[in-house]
Amino acid sequence: MVKVRFAPSPTGNLHIGGARTALFNWMYAKAQGGQFVLRVEDTDLERSKPEYEAEIMNSMAWLGLTWDEFYKQSDRFAIYKEQAEKLLGQGEEVAYKKDGAIFLNIKALSRRRPKQEIFVDDLIRGRVQFDLMFLYSEHEKDGVVSGEKELRDEVLVKSDGAPTYSFACVIDDAMMGITHVIRGEDHLTNTPKQVLMYEALGFGDKVPKFAHLPMIMGEDGTRMSKRHGATAVSDYRKMGFLPEALVNYLMLLGWSPGNEEILPLKNACTKFSIKKVNKSAAQFGMEKLRWINAQYIKKADVLTLTDLIVPMLKDAGLIGETYDRGRIEVAIGLFKGRMSTLPDFLERAGFLFTKDISLTDEMKAELAAKDMSAAFALLADRLAQATVFDIATTEKVFRDLVAELGIASGELVHPVRLALSASAIGPGLFETMAVLGKDLTVARLRSAYLK
Ligand code: GLU
Repeated sequence: MVKVRFAPSPTGNLHIGGARTALFNWMYAKAQGGQFVLRVEDTDLERSKPEYEAEIMNSMAWLGLTWDEFYKQSDRFAIYKEQAEKLLGQGEEVAYKKDGAIFLNIKALSRRRPKQEIFVDDLIRGRVQFDLMFLYSEHEKDGVVSGEKELRDEVLVKSDGAPTYSFACVIDDAMMGITHVIRGEDHLTNTPKQVLMYEALGFGDKVPKFAHLPMIMGEDGTRMSKRHGATAVSDYRKMGFLPEALVNYLMLLGWSPGNEEILPLKNACTKFSIKKVNKSAAQFGMEKLRWINAQYIKKADVLTLTDLIVPMLKDAGLIGETYDRGRIEVAIGLFKGRMSTLPDFLERAGFLFTKDISLTDEMKAELAAKDMSAAFALLADRLAQATVFDIATTEKVFRDLVAELGIASGELVHPVRLALSASAIGPGLFETMAVLGKDLTVARLRSAYLK
């Protein structure tokens, strides 16, 4: 059975790249009827923080990436110690102690191999050949080898007793029965060293298949980092993206599902295949993400959107502790086709929740340019008399008036919309009036030409 894992280090929030790795693993597990393990790699005792662990788990749950098994490496130190002792027991040619740390004797182990090279059949990149001397040379700095190439031995357990990332990772992957390691391309160079560790530990038959995912670039073509703005999944949540939309966007970062772009997770995971993952870097683009989010908001259920938007309206001081939820639902129904993120509602529909609105100088000049004050006054008086203030009534009052005045409705629609909403665009005028309510509609019509 396929078993994959997502192995974040809790040294920061779950970022976009990590979420994409988690997602691809998750989809692969679902596509194959396999299992997905979440393993918190908190062996770096200084940099790992429980709050990051909680944040990562929350973000995963928010994205809908559930796990079948959960492990924390800090609970497993005894296992790593035992494995290190086992290697020490095999003699210096395998592992040795120096300055309180335990080292893997890469020099000796690689001498046993016919060649100083190792290859990995990566499921995405194909066969990748590594020159061990080049990769792990004592004289290598920033990828440049100077002088004689000589292999550097590898720390397995540090002097403080904590295992190194590669050592704990290999032991866990082998003992947890991980069949496929799907991770970022930045880990490609760790792979040959990890293969040597599997062999030394006697797990040679447990070496998983590897798939290294292309990096994610920011819009300027450099690797995505904090400089590019929001990198944490929770930042996107705060910015008003829906989890379904973010997941849909992330799956397109490196995977080509065909010509569909809007692909909900439950459909995507049955189609997911590693063969369709690209080798070349993926590019993160805010415009595309906003477009996908808009599609999901449009399709989302009004009640769900209302639950998400009400706290935002409260935070912005647009509603208090008691509010008319039904009215908010109607308004969201009107505006959800015009939003890219949830806070767009506050921007576009905020005029429904304030007593006064302010028109820009241009809007005032536009109203003044064609004096409709007489029509505004009549419209206000008649609407004030309406006993039912719904779409049909406001429309009838409006249409009767323009017929009487002998003007085209378009001549009055635009200035009325400006006066009511301080915007030149929006949903239908009568829908807008109905949700704005009689008092505010009449008051704004009456004051429009006074300002
Ligand atoms: N803890 C490692 C990381 O966060 C995991 C790498 C791996 O998947 O092997 O980068």
